[in-house]
Amino acid sequence: MEMITNQMPTAELQALDAAHHVHPFTNQDELTSKGARVIMRAKGVSLFDSEGVEILDAMAGLWCVNIGYGRGELADVAARQMRELPYYNTFFQTTHVPVIALSAKLAELAPGDLNHVFFGGSGSEANDTNLRLVRTYWAEKGKPEKKVVISRKNAYHGSTMAGASLGGMSGMHAQGGLPIPDVHHIDEPNWYAEGGDMSPDEFGLQRAQELEKAILEFGEDRVAAFIAEPIQGAGGVIVAPDTYWPEIQRICDKYEILLIVDEVICGFGRTGNWFGSQTLNIRPDIMTIAKGLSSGYAPIAASILSDEVAAVIGGTEFNHGYTYSGHPVAAAVALENLRILEEEKIVETVREDTGPYLQKKWKALADHPLVGEAKIVGMMGSIALTPNKETRAAFKADVGTIGFKCREHCFANNLIMRHVGDRMVISPPLVITKDEIDTLIERATKALDLTLQQIKDEGLYA
Ligand SMILES: *Cc1c(COP(=O)(O)O)cnc(C)c1O
Repeated sequence: MEMITNQMPTAELQALDAAHHVHPFTNQDELTSKGARVIMRAKGVSLFDSEGVEILDAMAGLWCVNIGYGRGELADVAARQMRELPYYNTFFQTTHVPVIALSAKLAELAPGDLNHVFFGGSGSEANDTNLRLVRTYWAEKGKPEKKVVISRKNAYHGSTMAGASLGGMSGMHAQGGLPIPDVHHIDEPNWYAEGGDMSPDEFGLQRAQELEKAILEFGEDRVAAFIAEPIQGAGGVIVAPDTYWPEIQRICDKYEILLIVDEVICGFGRTGNWFGSQTLNIRPDIMTIAKGLSSGYAPIAASILSDEVAAVIGGTEFNHGYTYSGHPVAAAVALENLRILEEEKIVETVREDTGPYLQKKWKALADHPLVGEAKIVGMMGSIALTPNKETRAAFKADVGTIGFKCREHCFANNLIMRHVGDRMVISPPLVITKDEIDTLIERATKALDLTLQQIKDEGLYA
């Protein structure tokens, strides 16, 4: 076989990619006719493609490269660990130093009595674990009929059968017969799109109370858990109104429903604290973590359990685990990532310095004629595109048509900003500097200008 090298012309790489590589969340035929952009290397917040073009990655990969690209310390740790102990499992009453150290460190960082860590390889796997875990928990407590997990429409919890079922993405449910039984979805706290004439606070309360209604409809004795992201990420960076989370917490407490907080994006500094639960004052029984846990340098994820949940599960053999649960190389890389986040005070910098700087500039995008609202917490932000700022109207074109055009203008101007329907979202590496934030905002503004001009020309500004 021919070596695939950096010297190969882009068109040849694209042709090979199209011939043999099946991409996730992609229309393969469309991509084949267009050719994938080939990313060669990365440093800090910048990607470099096969033509040598530098691109500002305002998405930190898939919301995960919190410490930025190119940190050699993580490579060194991985190499050292591979030489020492590249692999061993943790199934049969064995353990190893990287998994011990990482578990203890996570127990120290996680809020409250979240002190016990079950590892997986991805956020999806961790949420599969959570689903089986909460059902096992209630069975152990003599209530095996408590099986229903309540989630939210437009939530993202991963792409396995359980992850996609827990998630509330209609496009994902439409393929493969999902959701699986005993997963129920209530409406999302998306005031901008669904709040109508209500105030955000009234609306937040109403949407939280849908949880109570659902619990009463199923019966308290049937509901195992509620799962939610502190801030919906893949759903479009939807920040719930202030009234929402206190009411959710009240309801979970009142009915003894386990609260699973999916921190896969919000964890590890994204919202200006170590966890989104701290920013929003939520008390989870179980937390899902992945992505920023290793800044994407190695695939690793986990469920962090409260003392009580761990004690109940500890009473039985939990017949569940992955070959790569607590993989030593991934665990060592994650530990080094946490060391960097901590020692370089990256979370504090997001909270007190670069975060507020980005927030001010991001919120000012709401003055652009195409933007209906600009939301941001820490370093996850979104803007809603609209033809009418006053009414928060959707475009007449299919949802996502205008967002996609805007994303293409971003791409052409060397900025990675994602679209979710007609919302544009960012989640840059947490190490982004003020100068780089200025560049991000300049390019985003230019893309908005170009999108506005284009849709006016095409008669779509309506
Ligand atoms: C990305 C994501 C997941 C899934 O993680 P994978 O590692 O892709 O399986 C789960 N929950 C949330 C909130 C996510 O953003």
